[in-house]
Amino acid sequence: MRYAETGFDLEIDLSRGSIDRVETDPKLTKLYLGGLGTNAKILWDRVPPETEPFSEDNLLIFSTGLLCGTAAPGCNRTIVSTFSPQTRLMAYSMMGGFWAPELKHAGYDKVIIRGRSPDLVYLWIHNDKVEIRDASHLHGKGAIETAECIRQELKEPDAQVAAIGLAGENRVFFASIEHGKSSASRGGIGAVMGDKGLKAIAVRGKKDVNVARPVEFMERCNDILKYIKVREENPVKGVPAILAGIGSPQEMRIVDEEWHTTNFMWGNSRTRRKDFWTKEIEENWRETQESVRTRLISCYNCPMKCGATVSVPGLPTYMMKCYSKLTYTMAAYSDLDFGFRIAQRATEYGVDGFSAPQVMAFALELYEAGILTDADLPGMPSDVEGRFFWLLDRIVRREGIGDVLADGTYWAAKRIGKGAEKYDHNTIKKHEQLPLKLGMLNPVYYLMYATGEKINITQIEGQFPQAPFPTGEEREAFVKDWIHVPDEKFKQYFLDWEPRGEHSNPYYPTVEASCNIVDWQEKMHYIDDALGMCAGLSSFPLKPPYHIHNYPALISAATGIDFDEPGLWQAATRNRTLLRAINVRRGMRRADEKPPENHWKKRFPELETKLLDEYYKLKGWDNQGIPTKASLHDLDLDYVGEDLEQRGIISDGQS
Ligand code: SF4
Repeated sequence: MRYAETGFDLEIDLSRGSIDRVETDPKLTKLYLGGLGTNAKILWDRVPPETEPFSEDNLLIFSTGLLCGTAAPGCNRTIVSTFSPQTRLMAYSMMGGFWAPELKHAGYDKVIIRGRSPDLVYLWIHNDKVEIRDASHLHGKGAIETAECIRQELKEPDAQVAAIGLAGENRVFFASIEHGKSSASRGGIGAVMGDKGLKAIAVRGKKDVNVARPVEFMERCNDILKYIKVREENPVKGVPAILAGIGSPQEMRIVDEEWHTTNFMWGNSRTRRKDFWTKEIEENWRETQESVRTRLISCYNCPMKCGATVSVPGLPTYMMKCYSKLTYTMAAYSDLDFGFRIAQRATEYGVDGFSAPQVMAFALELYEAGILTDADLPGMPSDVEGRFFWLLDRIVRREGIGDVLADGTYWAAKRIGKGAEKYDHNTIKKHEQLPLKLGMLNPVYYLMYATGEKINITQIEGQFPQAPFPTGEEREAFVKDWIHVPDEKFKQYFLDWEPRGEHSNPYYPTVEASCNIVDWQEKMHYIDDALGMCAGLSSFPLKPPYHIHNYPALISAATGIDFDEPGLWQAATRNRTLLRAINVRRGMRRADEKPPENHWKKRFPELETKLLDEYYKLKGWDNQGIPTKASLHDLDLDYVGEDLEQRGIISDGQS
């Protein structure tokens, strides 16, 4: 009997039209946990590195996490993994909502898609009944509209649907997969779904998900719920409101956006508007937000209500959460009302709310610079909001200049030429990142930006405060109930970290401390991504409900597989290393690991080199960021070492 997981994957070949229910090997759970970990193992084993993202041989995996569908609060992530058309590396985007728990209740841990359907289709998974159905009537429909059509035609109002819009159908490199209550947006996974001719996957499941030791497991879950309450009543002092609580940043509740609007960049990540936020704007934005926000909503089995349904008069309702509330507004130098209006259309089209606005702001900057001209943008309106809508419509249809921009700023700049590359100044590994340009190099963030495989800082950072607290008393107060640290040394790192002087950025935290902090932060993300846990309750916020000390007992009670802290740490290290090996096998090297030149005004090349050197060493990687044979052996990844050796990527002499 398998606990927490079902032990079965659905394997669908869209070229052949075959559907297979395949039993999985329980040994893999102990080694890789599930979710992202087992996705990575499948991609390593079955997708050779030469495989093009838009190829029948590329796999698109929709995975539940190991604990999805159990009573663990907030454990609801769908981990979607494939190879990205934009970065050409492994993409693993995650969505909350209800889809993964529904799949688990239908009796499956993963849906693994290969091949390409000649005609547009959707999948209908209803417990043991699985069908590939015609979707030709859904061509061109919005993602949310598609979900509604499918629910109606199946007469299943409670079916959970993950769908692409026009952007995915037209293989826009930053196309998302939308699920109504959440979306998986990074890495262009929606484009791969479109390439496979798959419009949607609808799921309805009513089977039980068993846990090994139910009484013990429920006690642990109740402890989590109790802590959530305590933590909600005790926001962290001394940090911006958005970082004080838990859950995803509570953007739909919070109106005060001084922190984002004055610290993040506007336009093509170009301008900081330090004096933007005024009382008048706050009132205006409050009115806008409260007039369109119909209700706050949560994902499956979570009390946090991070998202909201949004109904702009005259437009269909959609869901919004997090910083995407501001991305269109700030890219267009506009106001919140515009942000809510265009986000509705963008959600139906299915585009990443971080990349799409930046691509459009980039195009308008090229226009201002004379690199793009009226001949490239025929009929573009004269007002900036009109221009954003106009560009968005063309991008998702790949019409005219939209076809070039649909590949994202990195590839578009290359195709446009004429100096456009200079304006592509906010990408890492060919992918748009958060619009931030800062002053002094922060060594911890340098490492995370440079080396993160996720290429999305919010899915890498967390646990350790983003900035030092001004006084020793405040720091002492913070560490008092900091039970989450894996080792007491992290408390000392924080106590010694000062805003100015010898113990401040960029030389403090020290190189060693920075490497250890990053290691801790990313390990927690890798655990969450394997369990299907929302980072908002674990790896992202300060002092979260889940941490390295309470996870092992919870996972053991759920699965019946005994995990202790070192064992869990080892599994996270294994997954992190496997991800690295997958990307290394696809050509990623040290030269790719660099934040944009202008991310910080003050750079320290020698220090940065040292940081990267030491981080690689800590990870058991060589100077190019390639895992060594010895470290792969220690992680039971000998098969990876042998493959890298056969390909000449590592040599015998390396240890
Ligand atoms: S914390 Fe927020 S984003 Fe995370 S599962 Fe709960 S409601 Fe969803």
